[in-house]
Amino acid sequence: MRKGGHEKKEGSESFVYMPGEAIKSLRTELSNLLGEKLAAGVLFRFGFRCGEALMERTMSEANTEKGISEVLPGIWEHTGLGKIVKIEEISEEEVQIEQEASTEARVIGNTDEPSCHYTRGYLAGIATILSKKKFYCVETTCISEGKDRCNFQLVVFPHKVLVPKK
Ligand SMILES: [Zn+2]
Repeated sequence: MRKGGHEKKEGSESFVYMPGEAIKSLRTELSNLLGEKLAAGVLFRFGFRCGEALMERTMSEANTEKGISEVLPGIWEHTGLGKIVKIEEISEEEVQIEQEASTEARVIGNTDEPSCHYTRGYLAGIATILSKKKFYCVETTCISEGKDRCNFQLVVFPHKVLVPKK
């Protein structure tokens, strides 16, 4: 089991693993600087980049022909962010995920609202690289608010709404 930090190995195992305490420190710093709402957005963006970076390194091994629900749980084990116990592709544009043992929720503690912003960004980053569609991720229930599991909804980012075609 990795303890965190930078581990360099040949092949697909090579990536930077961010320990839970570092996520907590980053969240605290960002919240003090920017307030809770903006901090959540920055943590999401940072997680997204980490998920993308992980996938860019492991793509050669991950079969791009497979769906998100087939590939994601195996990759997710290596992130140390939690354990995916259920994943369901509702459509090509929506995936629902249940996660146990969220590292982020554990270090953040009780917040009365979903708090795994880095984690949901990470999920969206992985899904975006895997599918070549821009995914966003919402956390609908969270261990931080006293639930048993964290539930995430991955949805394709509504490009067409934001940038209407002429
Ligand atoms: Zn959570």
